[in-house]
Amino acid sequence: MPTILTHAAPALTLGLALGSKAVPPRLLVVGTALAMAPDLDSIGFFMGVPYESLWGHRGLSHSLAAAGLAGVLGLILAPALKAGRGAAALLLWWAVASHIVLDAATTGGLGPAALWPLEDGRHFLPWRPIRVAPMHPAAMLSGRGLAVMLSELKWVWLPCLSASFLLFMLRRPPAGRKNRFPR
Ligand SMILES: [Zn+2]
Repeated sequence: MPTILTHAAPALTLGLALGSKAVPPRLLVVGTALAMAPDLDSIGFFMGVPYESLWGHRGLSHSLAAAGLAGVLGLILAPALKAGRGAAALLLWWAVASHIVLDAATTGGLGPAALWPLEDGRHFLPWRPIRVAPMHPAAMLSGRGLAVMLSELKWVWLPCLSASFLLFMLRRPPAGRKNRFPR
């Protein structure tokens, strides 16, 4: 996996892109948390669940079904999150879907069970530039941890920050004109 905080980047980017009217703070907080939540399955390593099991790391929680469930959760929770149903469903679906895509672009471990329930194989993208993070947090303090952070900065944070900036500028009204897309 990329480090857990990096999984929040795509959800934050979409939140910033849509603006605080479509994505109020409550929805952004829940979306950010949900983007990191699939990796709670790494608890399975300490409970004897085999990595390759659907219940193991990058199994069910990293699937089409999990992303779809997150979207449905958005539809249901939208009023409580003070958001429209469409925006809430989109953001929560994207939080989990982007997690799966990032994991599928890492250099190690098993790929996510991205297509479950259609099939239960593990899949990587053909292009995998993101260095896989060590499972043990202490290993992040080593040279390997630094290489992982630099890789995530280059392949996740910089593209996300650039996209946020670009979308923010696109939503800005030209000087002297009223904003048609209020923030
Ligand atoms: Zn993951």
